[in-house]
Amino acid sequence: MKEIILIKVGEIVLKGLNRKSFENMLIKNIKHALTGTSQCRITSAQSTIYVEPCYDDADIEDICVRLSKVFGIVAFHRAAVAEKSMESITETALVYLEDYLETADTFKVEAKRSDKKFPLKSPEISRELGGKILEKFSHLTVDVHNPDVQVTVEVRDFGAYIHAGVIKGAGGVPVGSSGNGTILISGGIDSPVAAWMMAKRGLSLNAVHFASPPYTSLRAEDKVVRLLKKVASYAGNITMYTVPFTEIQEKIKNDCPQELFTIIMRRLMMEISQRIAMKTHSSCLITGESLGQVASQTMQAIVTTDEAADMVVFRPLIGMDKEEIIRISRRIDTFDISIEPYEDCCTVFTPKHPRTRPVLKYVKEVQENAGFDEMIETAINNLKVTKITP
Ligand code: ATP
Ligand code: MG
Repeated sequence: MKEIILIKVGEIVLKGLNRKSFENMLIKNIKHALTGTSQCRITSAQSTIYVEPCYDDADIEDICVRLSKVFGIVAFHRAAVAEKSMESITETALVYLEDYLETADTFKVEAKRSDKKFPLKSPEISRELGGKILEKFSHLTVDVHNPDVQVTVEVRDFGAYIHAGVIKGAGGVPVGSSGNGTILISGGIDSPVAAWMMAKRGLSLNAVHFASPPYTSLRAEDKVVRLLKKVASYAGNITMYTVPFTEIQEKIKNDCPQELFTIIMRRLMMEISQRIAMKTHSSCLITGESLGQVASQTMQAIVTTDEAADMVVFRPLIGMDKEEIIRISRRIDTFDISIEPYEDCCTVFTPKHPRTRPVLKYVKEVQENAGFDEMIETAINNLKVTKITP
């Protein structure tokens, strides 16, 4: 039996004049998400995007899994295709929905006829199909308010479609529709979640990762690549810039007071990330900071860190508890990777007693006296670029 997937564009949050460009972006993202699986024809008509497998042996499960990760889709239907006659609709529905109907006690048929040339009106389609279902599955009764199974028949320009279930989409808005952002990515639990959250709100992503070999290992870097790959299954392609950070961290250790190691390191991360963002046409930074989670995330520490970049910094986790963050990381399948035990550069030379209430003026003075400009330049000229695909 021929199956198709119907995505209702009416269900995405579409904004006035932007509607068409949102829809086009969504279609582009759907095509991208489906590269590498069974070939599909993707068309749009009457506020619906049709994903139609080209061959009978298409892997519909895989197609649905991929679609469930495309931001901008709230929900979609897997449907059987019938010819536009009552005989074909009935025959198709009785076979296609057999499993559903056999195990249900109550049902209801809802018909939507957008092709007004079809001879039966919607209530007549419902009545006729409902009668045939009752004939074949005599244990069923009709419940129009709260049925176990709602059978939907859509009679449209190019065919009739029958479905009885809805698959939840990832929600959000299409990736790219909000522009481009740069995620500061560590190997931890938080930053991949922050990246996912901003991609959900329509940002396409670049990533910056600070590595300090030999204090941090290649395996730590590989862990970040694997995390980004998980994020990319929602966010599309991501370019990762790895910053050689060893010299800078050693200089912090040698030239700055111990209690300011972390805050100065974080300020330098911001400054370098902003430089990379500007070079790569990205208009904001994203971090996985959450207020009060650790010493470098107190209000004063964040204010002091934030001052190092002029660019807007999004911190989507700012008001979330660790538990809530972990829940998302499990859902997007990054948690198990995040908890692998490799050193991040943040844990290199960590002071025993970091300053939790740094004074901006003093921190800036220390940083300026140490003089990092040349090293920043060198780091930026020696970025390693890795292309991450889903
Ligand atoms: P995460 O779980 O994301 O590592 P965290 O709770 O461990 O966060 P920190 O280590 O203080 O907190 O890092 C705060 C934020 O700084 C991270 O969420 C990330 O955005 C950024 N960050 C930390 N380490 C790195 C790194 N090595 N490279 C790039 N960004 C980093
Ligand atoms: Mg961390």
